[in-house]
Amino acid sequence: MAEVKILVEGYTSDESNDEKTCPTITLIKDKSINLVVDPGVLEDQKILIDKLKENGLSIDDIDVVCITHSHIDHYRNIGMFPNAKTLEYFGLWDKNTVTDWEENFTDDIKIIKTPGHNYDGITLLVSSDIGVIAVCGDVFWKENYPKNDPYASDKGKLEESRTKILQSADFIIPGHAGIYKVKK
Ligand SMILES: [Zn+2]
Repeated sequence: MAEVKILVEGYTSDESNDEKTCPTITLIKDKSINLVVDPGVLEDQKILIDKLKENGLSIDDIDVVCITHSHIDHYRNIGMFPNAKTLEYFGLWDKNTVTDWEENFTDDIKIIKTPGHNYDGITLLVSSDIGVIAVCGDVFWKENYPKNDPYASDKGKLEESRTKILQSADFIIPGHAGIYKVKK
């Protein structure tokens, strides 16, 4: 079982006029791996450093940083972690080399491709003590997400990705809000 913790709960004010946005930043601790998903844009990187500290970690302890898709609000801070490999749609980067990732990334973390919001979307399906948690970026922005995603690169693929996630997960950590339960 992996441990999943939201470090920063994301938000977006796309529906209003003051365009503030921050993605949900998630920590996954799985045996010997510490993984941060979507380190975001933040007003100050210290916010994330302090949140890691509350969990007994420093930026040096992060082994993998994952971006769910290549929108800058999700990946602006990937360079913060000096020892981390970068996991993204096209592969797992170690400094300047890239290798393919395995779908079963660890015993408790599965990677699936979930394009549609953007062409390069991936979702982590994490086995935790409350069930399978999908960390999916903007495939779902929040509970009762806008059904019609104005930024979708491919609406058909987005619907397929949403269905895939809803079938596989018990809980969803969306791109810009807190965790919620999948209604079966
Ligand atoms: Zn996005």
